[in-house]
Amino acid sequence: MPFISTRGAEAVSAPQAIVRGIAADGGLYVPVSLPHLCKADFEALARMDYPSRAARTLALTLDGFAEEELLSMARDAYARFDDPAIAPVKALSHGRYVLELFHGPTLAFKDMALQFLPRLLTASARKEGEQREIAILTATSGDTGKAALEGFRDVPGTSVTVFYPQGGVSAVQEKQMVTSQGRNVHVCAVKGNFDDAQTGVKTLFGDPAFRAEMNKRGKTLSSANSINLGRLAPQIAYYLSACADLLASGAIDWEAGLNICVPTGNFGNILAAWYARRMGAPIRRLICASNRNDVLTDFIRTGVYDRRRPFHKTISPSMDILISSNLERFLLELAEGNADQVRAWMEQLKAEGRYEISDAQKETLKSVFFGGCAGDERTCEAIAHYWREEKYLLDPHTAVAAAVAGDYRRETGDNNPLLIVSTASPYKFAADVAKAIGVEVQGDAFDAGAALESATGVPAPKAITALKFLPVLHTQVCDKDNMGQAVLDAFDGRQA
Ligand SMILES: *Cc1c(COP(=O)(O)O)cnc(C)c1O
Repeated sequence: MPFISTRGAEAVSAPQAIVRGIAADGGLYVPVSLPHLCKADFEALARMDYPSRAARTLALTLDGFAEEELLSMARDAYARFDDPAIAPVKALSHGRYVLELFHGPTLAFKDMALQFLPRLLTASARKEGEQREIAILTATSGDTGKAALEGFRDVPGTSVTVFYPQGGVSAVQEKQMVTSQGRNVHVCAVKGNFDDAQTGVKTLFGDPAFRAEMNKRGKTLSSANSINLGRLAPQIAYYLSACADLLASGAIDWEAGLNICVPTGNFGNILAAWYARRMGAPIRRLICASNRNDVLTDFIRTGVYDRRRPFHKTISPSMDILISSNLERFLLELAEGNADQVRAWMEQLKAEGRYEISDAQKETLKSVFFGGCAGDERTCEAIAHYWREEKYLLDPHTAVAAAVAGDYRRETGDNNPLLIVSTASPYKFAADVAKAIGVEVQGDAFDAGAALESATGVPAPKAITALKFLPVLHTQVCDKDNMGQAVLDAFDGRQA
């Protein structure tokens, strides 16, 4: 069986890993081996449309699914995107490119995987003979929640419950979530920050009493968080796709390759880039960009992961994270497959708030990754700079990456072509973007969007303009220690 837990539990198939979400030992599922693509494979990808590229990537990385089956899922998954290229690459000056991942229904990169996951999950459940309803529980720092609510909305045999930190997401993000429609969706604000919400969900997954209560109601738990293998695999596809496009246009050279800069929170998106690299994509350095919550920057630079630091709210809220769960998958690589070592680090992180890798592992880490961070002020400067110099409008998350990409080139002198990964539409964070480029804003987030559109001429996506008039359907709030009860109340129709 080709997938194992990072903490050593027995191997499973891809459909099993997708249904389970997280392994029984608390670890994350990782592939035992990966296929290797050559130059001709990228040339073949370049001739395909995006759904075909995604289906090919998933057929290569997941066992148990036929490519035709995956292609029909991919065609459905990407049907609602507002750009025919799905994940277009835009050229800027000085060998810089932007990979736009925000053309899905919720305007952030989470749609790339979360429009696909419900299809993979229900197909996996069928293959596994699962009869119960699949109850998705998810914590969100802002964008995952809405993407999961849209992805699972009215999908037969599933339900979705989303927890978000009260006051910890942008006005547009909150409005997107609390106006969610669908017979099978629940939304609940948690009194706490994102890490509290994520820890709460993880605790519920490991709580036998809670699982028994859900089972009594005919439900089995699964996760739509980026720890689910069914999210990771579709994310690898857009890196292979971008490399195929850049090779085909002659923008990059097969030998010299390119560097990729990813605005990072949970380490999910950048981990997919690393898997693409492992699969033979001509990716040299991976630049991990953080906001003021710079735990990953320090980890890459010093080899010490230390979460004992203040949590900062920033204008890039989807990156306000101190425990980057997907890093665990990369740790197994660093430990050369030694799951006992990974388990020890994770136990140490839980008990002491820190762990440290060996000197040799630090060298390996630094040979591939570069870590950097940018606070809100430099983020705003990057938005202003890219607008002034390139007439390109960055959202605050992408702007963190743009700032760190600049630092990378200055610090290393490495001027290889550089792909900046754009994770959200600027209109999702219109007030901050408008302010950054000096556009006067009065009123709410929607007025800011209108002001931004008339000042820049960059068209606002329809999904944002429609949002303003949608009614609020979800008002539930719970304490961080009471999330399990909130789920049961929602299912029992007792929600406050
Ligand atoms: C989720 C998100 C990120 C962080 O991605 P990770 O996979 O958690 O590293 C960055 N930007 C935006 C807009 C996001 O929604």
